[in-house]
Amino acid sequence: MSTPPLHIGIAGAGLLGRLLAWKLLQQGHKVSLYDKGSRVGEGSAARVAASMLAPYTEVVHAERQVFDWGLMALGWWPEQLARLNAETGLTIDHAINGSVAVAHELDKSSMTHFYQSLKTLLPDRLQHVRQLDRQQLAALEPELAEGFQQGLYLAEEGYLDNWALLSALNAAIDRLGGEFVEYAEIHDIQPGQLSVGHEQRQFDWVVDSRGIGAKSALPKLRGVRGEILWVHAPEVQLSRPVRLMHPRYKLYISPRPHRHYVIGATEIESESMAPVTVRSSLELLSALYSVHSGFAEAKVEHSFAHCRPAMPDNLPVVEVQPGLITVNGLYRHGYLLSPYVVEKALASFADFVV
Ligand SMILES: Cc1cc2nc3c(=O)[nH]c(=O)nc-3n(C[C@H](O)[C@H](O)[C@H](O)COP(=O)(O)OP(=O)(O)OC[C@H]3O[C@@H](n4cnc5c(N)ncnc54)[C@H](O)[C@@H]3O)c2cc1C
Repeated sequence: MSTPPLHIGIAGAGLLGRLLAWKLLQQGHKVSLYDKGSRVGEGSAARVAASMLAPYTEVVHAERQVFDWGLMALGWWPEQLARLNAETGLTIDHAINGSVAVAHELDKSSMTHFYQSLKTLLPDRLQHVRQLDRQQLAALEPELAEGFQQGLYLAEEGYLDNWALLSALNAAIDRLGGEFVEYAEIHDIQPGQLSVGHEQRQFDWVVDSRGIGAKSALPKLRGVRGEILWVHAPEVQLSRPVRLMHPRYKLYISPRPHRHYVIGATEIESESMAPVTVRSSLELLSALYSVHSGFAEAKVEHSFAHCRPAMPDNLPVVEVQPGLITVNGLYRHGYLLSPYVVEKALASFADFVV
């Protein structure tokens, strides 16, 4: 139909928009990337996320495809982060060294239920799920063994530093000559056309990667509110994501460099983007303190709320028609599923342009 290099306009510079911009530039295309916010990404779920890569934990809340597609992320991200480092000189902290789940003695049934669910859902992957006694827990996360008698180790899970990733993608896009247009809200998208303000801009192809901002094009898309806190805890040393299993409060702690931790997350069927509530903060911080008393003196540095973009089946959308790629619906597993979604979108696009 058409051959490279093409001029591609991308609406939405969150996780998918930036990844696709980078990949399409690598293929030799010309890319213009538009976002209603700034290059920092303050309007994206990508920046708010804890960016854990958690196929085992996610499968308990999702379809089996999420697990199968998500496994790809465990190899894809380290490769792409190394490539970004080579292209930009920027280092993105990440580790696929497992995650640990713990439960207080009174809440042991939550942990048992989680383990039973994994046994039912993933009978073929149980070699990567290990029940830990206190000594084994101490070997993995010494500071947790002071407060917990046992844990569960999910060997094939990890995390990456999303803020560093978004900055590195900006640098890589700049280096390859991509155009990043900030504060440019896209009002309408048609094949080969983006409406910016009162102007219609023409392209060979366009991408709709506006996340929850794409509701006009995807009427069934819904937002699922999530609230998250950032703390700096010099007295706490955790080297991998930690989850507290509790019948009421769901808590995870995702590490960042220099003893910073991302604490999350609420999950509320609401499209409100209002700031984090007192109730959510109290629940998250109380649960946090119950995991490790060293969090008592932690500084709360940021609080963020955003909406996870989800379709009714909570599965991703990848639609490619001549002149238009639509990617969305990453819900609560954007970092886990974006490798699959990006590669699938690029493969379908290649069928049209080669
Ligand atoms: C609290 C929370 C925690 C999370 N934790 C994890 C996790 O641990 N692991 C994981 O895998 N996933 C996690 N996620 C999910 C993940 O963040 C999302 O699935 C992912 O960011 C969605 O990517 P996206 O590119 O579709 O949308 P986004 O990242 O939201 O990007 C959309 C972009 O489009 C822009 N935009 C919107 N409308 C317009 C418009 N009209 N014109 C121009 N630009 C527009 C926005 O400004 C934004 O930059 C979490 C999400 C939340 C909210």
